[in-house]
Amino acid sequence: MNCPRDNTPLRQAGYTHACDACGGAWVVDEVLVPLLEERANALIELEWKPRHADEIRACPACASPMQTVALGSVALDRCPPHGVWFDAGELAAALKEAKHFRAEPAHPAKTHESLLHKLGKLLSVD
Ligand SMILES: [Zn+2]
Ligand SMILES: [Zn+2]
Repeated sequence: MNCPRDNTPLRQAGYTHACDACGGAWVVDEVLVPLLEERANALIELEWKPRHADEIRACPACASPMQTVALGSVALDRCPPHGVWFDAGELAAALKEAKHFRAEPAHPAKTHESLLHKLGKLLSVD
């Protein structure tokens, strides 16, 4: 896969594919949600809002035009079957906002578990 901005080949970096030229990152949905949930310490539901953009980029996976969307205050490009493109710094910004994406508790057992996990974190002073 190549970077949708500058066509540089993307490099596997942990759970993401990063572009060394522009600092952007490609993240698939199946990875993005757990990443944000871990950061939020809760189940989350991503609310993609359409946004206007003059520049439409092509999906690195299928080359289709990506949707221009916003997640919280972070502007992103997304190809729903494949993943989401984060420009440099946007992934960090989305992770920072992760706690705002909390979902209604749909899975009581798992929510309970993450609440306990959170309590544990609150109680441990570092
Ligand atoms: Zn790039
Ligand atoms: Zn695609």
